[in-house]
Amino acid sequence: MSGLTLKKQIPEAIIIEKNHFAGGLCHTFRYNDFYFDCTGHYLHSERNKLLNQNAKMKKIKRNSKIYIENKYIDYPFQTHFHSLKKNIVKECIKGFMEREEKIKVRSIYDWVMKYYGKGIGNHFMFPYNEKLWRKPVDNLNADWMGSFIPKISNRDILHGGKTEVGYNSFFYYPKSPGFDNILKFNENEINLEEKAIKIDIQKKILYTNKNKYKYDVLASTIPLIELMK
Ligand SMILES: Cc1cc2nc3c(=O)[nH]c(=O)nc-3n(C[C@H](O)[C@H](O)[C@H](O)COP(=O)(O)OP(=O)(O)OC[C@H]3O[C@@H](n4cnc5c(N)ncnc54)[C@H](O)[C@@H]3O)c2cc1C
Repeated sequence: MSGLTLKKQIPEAIIIEKNHFAGGLCHTFRYNDFYFDCTGHYLHSERNKLLNQNAKMKKIKRNSKIYIENKYIDYPFQTHFHSLKKNIVKECIKGFMEREEKIKVRSIYDWVMKYYGKGIGNHFMFPYNEKLWRKPVDNLNADWMGSFIPKISNRDILHGGKTEVGYNSFFYYPKSPGFDNILKFNENEINLEEKAIKIDIQKKILYTNKNKYKYDVLASTIPLIELMK
């Protein structure tokens, strides 16, 4: 996506891509009638009007479920745990009433204990985040959480049932399925199946599996970890 955006600004730029398809993380795999977007569940824009007026996009209501205790409940957990077993409901409400509002937040664990309490943490927030980030919750920074975790009133937590909460209860998605439908490019604008192998910064030469380029300016949009290899 970044490479294609650069090409738009600098048409004479040569874009090389190691895969046989363009798009990187914005690629969509198709299998029979199914579409698997590598990323992208939500198009971020300060100017939502742009997305709204784009004829290629449609506005969709989120339909997310959580599989817990052998059944599906609506997302988010905080407003839908009420239909679970009585002991879980009790632990979630009790934990919420006893939450540690004065705690200094350093980790996801602290954040959950401050805003939701131990019950909601144990039954959803802790296992979910540990599965997602593959690290213990007391070892994960909480700075990002504010804008992504639905903010819910005390009343909604105690009574439950509210679905339209959070930053993505509605979102925009391409009318023709697949996030890669928003990429506009010609296949011949990109050198596919060409992998950057070595950069000689002194001589300003890029080596690939197919060519050797003398460059004036080289812009890398590959993941840093790949660039350092
Ligand atoms: C799970 C997940 C969910 C996300 N959800 C959202 C979301 O909802 N909304 C949102 O706005 N953003 C989201 N993002 C972020 C967004 O997908 C990325 O920021 C964006 O796609 C990055 O694009 P890019 O072109 O910079 O990098 P990439 O897509 O990583 O492109 C890098 C390209 O470089 C190629 N490459 C790598 N090494 C070489 C090499 N040696 N030679 C040649 N080519 C090479 C790769 O094949 C790839 O095509 C999400 C990201 C992830 C991982």
